[in-house]
Amino acid sequence: MSVQNYINGQYETPSSNEWLDNFCPATGEVYGKIPNSSKVDVENAYIAAKSAFPSWSQTTLEERSRILIKISELLEANLQRFAEAESKDNGKPVLLAKEVDIPRAASNFRFFGNAITQFASESHESVGHDALNFTLRQPIGVVGCISPWNLPLYLFTWKIAPAIAAGNCVVAKPSEVTPMTAYLLGEICTEAGLPKGVLNIVHGLGTTTGQAIIEHPDIKAISFTGGTATGAHIAKVAAPMFKKLSLELGGKNPNIIFADCDYDTMLKTTVRSSFANQGQICLCGSRIFVERSIYEKFKTDFVQKVKALKVGHPSESSTNIGALVSKPHLEKVLDYIEIAKQENGTILCGGNKVSVKDFENGYYLEPTVIEVITDECRVNQEEIFGPVVTIMPFDTEDDVLQMANKVKYGLSATLWTNDLKRTMRMSNQLQAGIVWVNTWMMRDLRTPFGGVKASGVGREGGFEALRFFTEAKNVCIKY
Ligand code: NDP
Repeated sequence: MSVQNYINGQYETPSSNEWLDNFCPATGEVYGKIPNSSKVDVENAYIAAKSAFPSWSQTTLEERSRILIKISELLEANLQRFAEAESKDNGKPVLLAKEVDIPRAASNFRFFGNAITQFASESHESVGHDALNFTLRQPIGVVGCISPWNLPLYLFTWKIAPAIAAGNCVVAKPSEVTPMTAYLLGEICTEAGLPKGVLNIVHGLGTTTGQAIIEHPDIKAISFTGGTATGAHIAKVAAPMFKKLSLELGGKNPNIIFADCDYDTMLKTTVRSSFANQGQICLCGSRIFVERSIYEKFKTDFVQKVKALKVGHPSESSTNIGALVSKPHLEKVLDYIEIAKQENGTILCGGNKVSVKDFENGYYLEPTVIEVITDECRVNQEEIFGPVVTIMPFDTEDDVLQMANKVKYGLSATLWTNDLKRTMRMSNQLQAGIVWVNTWMMRDLRTPFGGVKASGVGREGGFEALRFFTEAKNVCIKY
């Protein structure tokens, strides 16, 4: 099935008529074609967005809200179709796509459809000066949204929904590795009555199509989720043009387990926070630190549970771990397992490719637990972004805090303890944008989302996203 660009409300082939292969990770086979869009296609998308902007930015909040909520309803009505498409494109279990990814994409539109009607601006009376200040929150114009392959529609819509809710028009590029559900979104937007040109989706490689978006002098803001190296490159390209940037980048998140936690809940959740989506979630807790008094018990119980996870074809309901997203990614993760061995890490379970019957060319890997002897080894410092976690013991709160913070990233951290004072001490000192205590990946869309250090700049979520996608203009009236 061929994917097409969605420009000015129409599906279009790329101007060059050049195409890329789309692979199914579960089988390793090519199952479709993707436009290899050029600068010309990005320019066409920009022109469509620019022409739609005057009208869309003046569309009432009620009308914008109504359309966003309609898109959400149509996604819900097409849940099965979208979930199957997402699973086929990405390799994730279809159940995960059905229960998490697609419902969340629908929630993104519903949430921002509602949030925009509650987005109030500030006013300040300058007492004694007979003056009143108020702040206008104006849409920026044409904005660019670029998203990765791990949660394809979920992260794509997490950017698009607030951008259009705030009155902007969008040129968006999903990952070329997983374009399918973004492609299908076009027809949903048309059916929901989104005016032509408000959302334009251009498919292609990051280095050409993505690059044309970030280099475009009149695309005034870029919301990007992806790797740290790409984020740094975007920041360099954007800086001379003073573009507004939101960068959600990589992570190497600590999962810190104290002996006083609710053990069973912790154990169950830790399996999920390590291996959900084949470990390909920026929020996965890939470095597990366990208080020494329960370390041996945890190690035995955790490895037993991990060994019981079923690696299989994503469409089977019994599958816990589907396929990794691509062959190069599988090879990258396997390389890290070799590095772990060279660094004297012990592979407690996993570490090998899996041959799934009838799908021997799929990109399957056993969930892997590595016991490391130092927190400074490469597998403990570098983002692997696959079904691989490290574990090691710790003795004191200070020790674990130091190890948790001693990485270049700072996206999220998970803490397991029932001690309130320790919770507060640790939450204050962990270098992360998000701290979960006694849970993982519990999301409330009103809360700020993002990281510190090499995990990014800026926050998404709630009014933070609407602030990003608007310019504040203060008006001071002397009366
Ligand atoms: P990449 O950085 O490789 O790609 C992300 C997106 O950027 C893709 O659409 C890619 O296109 C595009 N891109 C690549 N090069 C350029 C360029 N020069 N100009 C503009 N766009 C470009 O990341 P991955 O897709 O590999 O995603 C995995 C990464 O994303 C991990 O590091 C993960 O931690 C991070 N991530 C962060 C999250 C967060 O919220 N902080 C959430 C989810 C993931 P193409 O795919 O076609 O190359």
